[in-house]
Order: sequence, then C-alpha cells, then structure tokens
Amino acid sequence: MFVSQYNFEDEVRKDFSFAAPKINDTTLRDGEQTPGVVFSLEEKVQIARLLDEIGVQQIEAGTPAMSEEETKAVSAIVKEGLNASIMGWSRAVQSDVDAVLKTEADAIAISIATSDIHLRYKLNMTREQVLEKAASMVEYAKSHGLYVSLNSEDATRTEFAFLKEFALKGKEAGADRLRICDTLGVLIPASSRYLTRRVIEETKIPVEIHTHDDYGLAVANALAAFEAGAEWASTTVNGLGERAGNSSLEGVIMGLIKLYNLQLPFKINKICEISHYVEKASGIAVPPNRSIVGAHMFTHESGIHVDGVLKYPYTYESFLPDEIGTSRKIVIGKHSGKHAVWDKLKELGINASKEQLIKIVEIVKRNSQERKSAITDEELRKIAGKVIGK
Ligand code: MN
Repeated sequence: MFVSQYNFEDEVRKDFSFAAPKINDTTLRDGEQTPGVVFSLEEKVQIARLLDEIGVQQIEAGTPAMSEEETKAVSAIVKEGLNASIMGWSRAVQSDVDAVLKTEADAIAISIATSDIHLRYKLNMTREQVLEKAASMVEYAKSHGLYVSLNSEDATRTEFAFLKEFALKGKEAGADRLRICDTLGVLIPASSRYLTRRVIEETKIPVEIHTHDDYGLAVANALAAFEAGAEWASTTVNGLGERAGNSSLEGVIMGLIKLYNLQLPFKINKICEISHYVEKASGIAVPPNRSIVGAHMFTHESGIHVDGVLKYPYTYESFLPDEIGTSRKIVIGKHSGKHAVWDKLKELGINASKEQLIKIVEIVKRNSQERKSAITDEELRKIAGKVIGK
C-alpha cells in the first residue's frame, strides 16, 4: 500500500458504507456533448469495446432521439453483444423513450430537471407536472422491459423535500435507481456524502452519482458518494463532457482501487490505451499534468526525484506505470542532478569521467533554462560529444 495510511484510520472510515461500486460510463453521451466533439460510428463502437474490456458495468451509448445516425450507433453497440449493459439516454418524453426502444438497448436513462430554476426558466412546468411526466415515462419504459435510471437533472440545487418526493414517485413507478445529477458541478465532498446518504436512507432507492468538474471536484464528489453508499457513478474517459467535463473514468476507478484499497473487477492495465484512443478520436488533448493519464505522471526530471525513483519507484509514485499500461520517462533538464544525467548517459551508451559529467550537467541546466524545456536524448548526445571530444 503506497497511498496515505491515514485513509485507513478507523476515525476516517467510521462512516463509510460502501456498496459494491459500479461504473456507468457516459463518454459516448455526456462525453460527446463536449463542444466540438463528434465520434464516428466506428469510433463509438471501438470506445464501447474498450470500456467493456476494462469491465465497466454499463455504457451510456448515446441519445437515440437526437438523430438517425445516433440510433444506428447505439444499435451497432448493442449488436456487439458486450458484457456491459447498454443504456440509451432520453428526456421524459415518449418519442425519446421509443427511440431508445428501437435500438434494443437493455437500459434507459430518463432525464428531467427537478430544481426550481430549471422548472421555471427551462421547462416551464410545475412540480406536479414533473412528477407526473417522470412517473408515466418510467412506467412506460418498465412496461417494455427496460432497466431504468431516473435522472434528476440539477438535483444538487433541488429542495430536498421535492427531490425525495421525485425519488419515491419514480421508485413507485418502477425506476431501478435514481441518478443524482450535479449538473453544474457545485457539490463539495461533504455535501455529496450527505445528500447521497440522506436519499438512500429516506427513499431506499439505489443511487447513482453524476458529477461535473467545474470546481475540479468531480472525482472527489463521486468518491464521496460511494463512501456514503452510492451504487453507481457516471464517468467519462479523460473527464470529457460539457464545460469542465465529468468525473473521469480513470480517476474514479484508480481512486476506488488505490486510495480505498477496494477489490474491484476492473482491468486497469487498459486505462492508458482507452485514454489515448479517446484523446485521438475526440481531438481533445490530455494536458500533460492531468491526473492518472497525463504524460507527466511518470515523467521525472527533478534531480532529487529521479534519484529516489531510480532507487525505489514508490519514493515518488504511488502506483507503477505498467499497472495502467504506460512506462516511466526520465528527462534531463534544469532540475537534473548528476545522478540522473549519469544514468541517462549510461542508457545512451556514453561513458564520461567525473569532470566531464560535471561539465555536461552544467550545459544541460543552462540550455534547458534558456529555452524552457527538457533536453532530448539527441541533444544530450551532442552535448556529451562536445565535452568528451568525440
Ligand atoms: Mn452531465
């Protein structure tokens, strides 16, 4: 165990009530709602396959009512015969539910907003109308044999009494779970725990948490909901999604497995593969400093860090790169010490004396500082060649 031991203190864990956490990945629905992102049918099918290989239990494959192409894509994913359940997304409108039925998906997300702001400014509906609409669409979907996740859009800005009524009404109509949507990404971990626990206690409906990253807390809020007994969390690969995106698949899975030491059936060695694939297909670059999948996660430059990592990786890594299907990179630059440069030279098959090494380190530091970037292997070769005189 190379994460903080404080994660396992009785005092920290005393209120944990983990169910068996499951993932509903919505890269193909909420992820594709990222401005400018369009996946082709082939890309959608490939993303679904990779999600299935990782062991995601449910794939939210799209919004069939949106277009003929979208219906085709969801159908194509259904035809793959994956282990994962395939969910179609719909508004609480019968034509949307019918569009999902056409794809032969086994599950549906039925979404309607519950906050007063949304009722007043978007839906122009009363609370009674929302309850009636949600219940009738849940009943309709259930009568056609679908698994139903009833989505409370903007749940985290909904008065609790109404959210409870909505959940109970949905449950009575046959909904299999309630998706608590933090549509604007405005929860904090403590309130995510509180709301999840309270909904479960007072309605006994299984909870899914759907979080957004507007304040950088999407993964933290999803993990907090799991602590309080949520059974599902929505995720997207690389945290794609509207505005700042959703809680990331890689962050939530690695958090559950590493930070909480839960034994879960996910194949984490596929994480970098799917991240790279989605990066390419979406055209949204993964920033180098992104958690879990960013290129800098396992790139070390600073002299002291490299020295530690080379002696024992866990000095500066809480898990190893090959666990998620990537490798470690040592780069030479302004922060590099003699040890790191020495190792890099050895790797390149270059022998230098002590005096030469000191000279090489000096030039490396100066060059990388001047141009604000690391030194490539080829450049190091040249520098060493000049100093050593070959
Ligand atoms: Mn969303």
